[in-house]
Amino acid sequence: MTKTALITGITGQDGSYLTDLLLEKGYVVHGVLRRGSMTERPRLDHIDLNAPERSRLHLHYADLNDPTTLRRVVKSTRPDELYHLAGQSHFGASFDIPESTAELTAMGTLRLLEIVRDCEHPIRMLNVGSSEIFGRPDHAPQTLTTPMIPVSPYGASKAFAVNAVRIWREAFGVFAVNAICYNHESPRRGLSFVTRKIARGVARIAAGDTVPIALGSLDVSRDWGYAPEYVEAMWRMLQADTPTDLILATGQATTLQAFLVRAFETVGLDWRDHVVSDPRFVRPAEPVQLFGDTSEAASHIDWRAEVVGTDVAELMVRAELLQTS
Ligand code: NDP
Repeated sequence: MTKTALITGITGQDGSYLTDLLLEKGYVVHGVLRRGSMTERPRLDHIDLNAPERSRLHLHYADLNDPTTLRRVVKSTRPDELYHLAGQSHFGASFDIPESTAELTAMGTLRLLEIVRDCEHPIRMLNVGSSEIFGRPDHAPQTLTTPMIPVSPYGASKAFAVNAVRIWREAFGVFAVNAICYNHESPRRGLSFVTRKIARGVARIAAGDTVPIALGSLDVSRDWGYAPEYVEAMWRMLQADTPTDLILATGQATTLQAFLVRAFETVGLDWRDHVVSDPRFVRPAEPVQLFGDTSEAASHIDWRAEVVGTDVAELMVRAELLQTS
């Protein structure tokens, strides 16, 4: 039987890869779009309007701030699976716009849970949590039992959403799970994220531009994976027999400097000639490296990240080079 999925955040990095994956698997895919002044959806444009799978993709205007419309979309599309990916996804920006970050990420998730709970037909729901719920943890790797002590409005909003999903599952029997994701990147990553800024900068410099890339602390490390692999894991989580929260991570921490070295090596240049330090981007020192425990995802859904750390850097630079050539 053909399955139906509803995706919030379909125009984002993960939403677009998940759309590709689900269409490939034969799903009917419905996506929630915010109404904006622009009609371009660059991350979905590669889906050929005349391709047969395009007839299984349907887009609907709704907003996480507009529960009536969300409820109407869920009711009319009757999804088997609901992937909740929408939100204000930038750690740094959450300090500039804390109220809307909390409104979208915390309350938006709660609103969806209430809709799913009230629905007449069963819906499996996945919420994307974040490693930022752990803040600056005192041990690594972080696991599902690591205390949530977020240090940003983004992390606090994600912690609320992750807890809400667990509570709705336990209190109301909703099939709802959290994918607690560490950083995952791709050529479709937003331009305000440091990995994309580096990849684009390297391609620009390789093409002859002399303006250096301005960065903050290079000794910060992150657990960087590749977005298409993470959406595959999200899909597997909703196919499991029991609803279980999982950490999705590579299990390896890579410093920003190592990422940078590999990015420049991809084009045969030395990063030290093209990077300047900018205090605006410096982040406080982190006592313990952020990287996630991968064991439960391996045993529960047989998932392991393949593209890890500096390999992501090379892949992103190569994609930028293709775009600029
Ligand atoms: P993006 O920023 O690329 O996409 C966010 C999506 O949310 C966009 O489609 C955006 O729409 C949509 N959105 C924002 N506000 C609203 C709203 N009010 N109503 C409806 N839609 C809205 O994020 P990613 O794809 O990278 O991430 C997906 C999820 O995973 C996010 O929740 C993020 O916080 C989480 N996450 C991501 C990680 C990563 O490394 N990528 C790591 C950990 C968690 P529009 O196109 O209109 O802006």
